[in-house]
Amino acid sequence: MKAKKTVAVIGAGIVGLNTAYKSAREGMDVTIFEMQDFPPANASAIAGGMLAPFSEIEVMPLKFVQAGLKGISFWKENLGSEQGKAMQNTGSLFIAHPEDKHMLERFAQHMPAASDDWQWVEGEALAEIEPMVAGRFTRGLYIPSEANVHPLVVMDILAKKLKDMGANIIQKEADPKELEKDFDWVIDCRGWVDGIDDDLRGVKGEIILLENKEFKLSRPVRMMHPRYPLYIIPRPNNVFAVGASAIENADEDDGLVFLRSAMELMSAAYSLHPSFGDAKVLDMSSAIRPSYMDNLPRININDNGEAERGYIRCNGTFRHGYMLSPVMAGCVSHYIATGEQNEDFSLFSGQYNFHIADEAA
Ligand SMILES: Cc1cc2nc3c(=O)[nH]c(=O)nc-3n(C[C@H](O)[C@H](O)[C@H](O)COP(=O)(O)OP(=O)(O)OC[C@H]3O[C@@H](n4cnc5c(N)ncnc54)[C@H](O)[C@@H]3O)c2cc1C
Repeated sequence: MKAKKTVAVIGAGIVGLNTAYKSAREGMDVTIFEMQDFPPANASAIAGGMLAPFSEIEVMPLKFVQAGLKGISFWKENLGSEQGKAMQNTGSLFIAHPEDKHMLERFAQHMPAASDDWQWVEGEALAEIEPMVAGRFTRGLYIPSEANVHPLVVMDILAKKLKDMGANIIQKEADPKELEKDFDWVIDCRGWVDGIDDDLRGVKGEIILLENKEFKLSRPVRMMHPRYPLYIIPRPNNVFAVGASAIENADEDDGLVFLRSAMELMSAAYSLHPSFGDAKVLDMSSAIRPSYMDNLPRININDNGEAERGYIRCNGTFRHGYMLSPVMAGCVSHYIATGEQNEDFSLFSGQYNFHIADEAA
């Protein structure tokens, strides 16, 4: 019988966990190396967990919107019977204050012209889906197919599933070169590390957790904001995650939140509903998003021409790690299993992005 391929995954963020999970499902012998205790304090642990491909339609090529929808299906499949405690499939609602109305109108123009993917909701229709928002906003744009996951819950589920399949997480700061001696494949999912790739940069994101017992949402609300996509995401036990900022400065990798950002995020929540005035601040945190210059993720393969061994780097998920990592994981495990690139692979080759630039020129 042919020996199982041995795979080392470095990093137990969402990219590493999904890649390890998919590879273990393909029958590979997987070991994950994570330098922190699990769950690690990384970008994945504090993320919003939005699976919101259409929300990115202004800034991402359309093919990535399709990939994001595929990411949602993969999440459903991977979570299986645990979906109920980790995933919300109730879509998302876009709203704007009167002064930002033009942003919502502009966003709507990017959406597919006639489709079931979205609809305007006003008056009673808005009250039906989000009664507590309807009193204060007259109009919203509803995207039923978007979803969200609870980051720490899904990280925990994936870690347990991995363990059940015999793939353990070892706490160790790993060096890819060293691991290459012992494993057939090394998959580098280290997220933001200064200098591991020429054009990888870090973008700080901040998020706050609020407890508000007086308010209820059935889905995340995106409030149009001039500088970044701002979400108020309902979590169990009356908790709301409000984020996330985007600051082009990886030197601020301290887990802390700027006062200006905290004020902006809190006032967004307060402007959604005044009951947030009496909400309690449970947590404020930040992390660095690994990002390439085009903000699109990449898979780099170096197999030195050998079909059976090599090094693969998956990185640059920017603000799309939850949405796209299951799709990236499928590309990587398929490549290791067959030596071939699947239908989604070109999205992450980096070349796709240059083609877009060429076409635009
Ligand atoms: C505030 C905020 C909100 C966000 N919201 C969303 C969202 O709603 N939806 C979405 O899709 N994305 C969101 N993102 C983006 C998403 O979080 C990232 O794209 C994703 O988490 C990156 O995952 P990763 O696994 O590449 O990196 P990380 O999560 O950073 O994980 C990398 C891991 O590698 C480990 N590591 C590094 N070096 C080594 C080494 N030498 N040996 C062993 N281990 C090592 C680190 O300790 C770390 O645990 C958000 C990000 C932030 C900051």
